[in-house]
Amino acid sequence: MTERVCVVGSGPAAVSCAHVLAEARVPVTILDVGFDLDQASRGLLEQYRRDRDPDALVDEIHRLRAGYEKLSAVQPGKYLFGSDHPYRTIPDTEVESGDDAVIRSSLGKGGLTAVWGATVCTVVPKDIGDWPIGFADLEPHYRALEKVVPVASPHGEMRGLFPIDIGSSPGFPLGSQGQALLSRLQRCRDALACDGIHVGRAKLAVGAKYSADGTGCTPCGLCMHGCPNDAIFSASHLLDALRRRPGVEYRPGVLVESFAETGGAVEVGIKELDTGNRTSLRFDRLFVACGVVNTTAIVARSLGMTDHEFTIRDSQKFIFPLLCRRAKGAVRARDNTLAQVYLTVDNQEVSGHVVQVQYYGYNDLILEPLRGRLGNGVAKLFARLAVPLLERLMIAFVYLHSNESGTLSLTVHESGEGRGMGEVRGHANPRSHEVVRALLRLLRRHRVAHGGRVLGLGLQATKPGDSQHIGGTLPMSAAPGRHETDVLGRPSGCEQVHVVDASVFPSVPGTPIAYTAMANASRIAAGALRVMRVSGDV
Ligand SMILES: Cc1cc2nc3c(=O)[nH]c(=O)nc-3n(C[C@H](O)[C@H](O)[C@H](O)COP(=O)(O)OP(=O)(O)OC[C@H]3O[C@@H](n4cnc5c(N)ncnc54)[C@H](O)[C@@H]3O)c2cc1C
Ligand code: SF4
Repeated sequence: MTERVCVVGSGPAAVSCAHVLAEARVPVTILDVGFDLDQASRGLLEQYRRDRDPDALVDEIHRLRAGYEKLSAVQPGKYLFGSDHPYRTIPDTEVESGDDAVIRSSLGKGGLTAVWGATVCTVVPKDIGDWPIGFADLEPHYRALEKVVPVASPHGEMRGLFPIDIGSSPGFPLGSQGQALLSRLQRCRDALACDGIHVGRAKLAVGAKYSADGTGCTPCGLCMHGCPNDAIFSASHLLDALRRRPGVEYRPGVLVESFAETGGAVEVGIKELDTGNRTSLRFDRLFVACGVVNTTAIVARSLGMTDHEFTIRDSQKFIFPLLCRRAKGAVRARDNTLAQVYLTVDNQEVSGHVVQVQYYGYNDLILEPLRGRLGNGVAKLFARLAVPLLERLMIAFVYLHSNESGTLSLTVHESGEGRGMGEVRGHANPRSHEVVRALLRLLRRHRVAHGGRVLGLGLQATKPGDSQHIGGTLPMSAAPGRHETDVLGRPSGCEQVHVVDASVFPSVPGTPIAYTAMANASRIAAGALRVMRVSGDV
């Protein structure tokens, strides 16, 4: 018998899992809520592709953005051509959160990769020391991912930290601020390395593979609003490629609510969103990748765990400004505005784990606080008047390992109670501030390499969850307990249900997580295939 298996979701974890199954010619049904780009935003994109006027596009995007609620007190929300569909919720999936946490889940096609920053890397082995698998288990899956995810990353950089190179040489230039900073840091590479500071060009999931005209990034400066050339990888690109394969079925508009293993199969409880009808579908195996909160809710409701308080592990994010030498022309140029430089710090004085710093140059979201208060016209005027300042200003995002970050607790409500899906509460970790203070002290020692000053006064901490680098609710374990999963992501008591997203990470490294979530989802799919072959099902 050939099994028909089900993958839930179309985010990065789901599509990499589905890809491995489809490569093995296993028939796959992908169930997904799958909200897509709004009509208004679709119109803006089409208009831009006709007239190539980035200023007009950005003005229209800001007009749409002005109508949305703030997602975070600290950082401006990212939308896709002004469309908020990646974050849209429905009453069934609403989660109440206190002031001490930020939680955003996606019901969108491609999940949060519709709006992500596309920073990628492999994990640093020591940061997964508490996982029941090691780097060697992930390595073949990182390598296989290169066939489906374009990654721009110079080879040989940062090899003291990352065991393998991924991707290929970038086919597009950094922005002038990023290039100037990278060159300065690289000139001081040895002194920085002595302090455990590893420097490299940001590794980005950007390339020609899915780009509209096959050229990849032809810099237009719109990265913070979406890539009109489809050069920034989104899981929806791989989903669209999968849908063209025989045996792969994609069903959007479906909310998965529960599962039950019965008689050697898995019954998947669904709600059709256009009719509200509830029914169930039968599959031979199920892979759940709905993002941490939705996945955990499905598992909790299916396995009677609604009395349990789950811990969401966060790689907490801090933001600080860097005032450095001026890069003339940076504000007006239409450069790539994704992360420019990685500074990955492995220094015991700072932390026992790796701390990730990503530097960004000027982009129009930097003026969002001003725009929010005084409007887009004033923000544009300020951008013209403050060019000498803005061309000196870079922004750093710092991410910590989850062991040194705040956490969130999640409780899931029983379905049908009419009070949403659950509640989250944030819990600060004082250790996170100590790590960041030590980091800033270290970076200040390398002021010359930076060509400027790290502005500690502008330091801002995001609340637990706001990093969007979360996981850990159903951690993998070699000897799983009631609320854990085995190394194939199977919750306790399950044989044919696998959780494949970051919910199964025992801890969350400070380095970007989505690429590792994809590698781990591929690893689980490959492991499940072995189980299916042993049982003679494929
Ligand atoms: C602004 C922003 C920037 C980011 N930048 C980066 C970055 O640079 N690098 C990085 O590594 N990470 C980044 N992240 C985080 C990264 O995007 C997420 O870690 C990643 O997308 C999570 O992948 P996932 O597959 O678990 O689920 P998601 O991307 O959350 O996708 C969930 C999928 O499940 C579907 N779904 C959910 N519930 C149900 C249900 N009940 N039934 C059916 N379908 C369902 C949704 O439709 C969706 O397709 C960023 C996130 C944000 C918001
Ligand atoms: S600059 Fe950004 S938005 Fe423009 S083509 Fe390159 S990746 Fe896409």
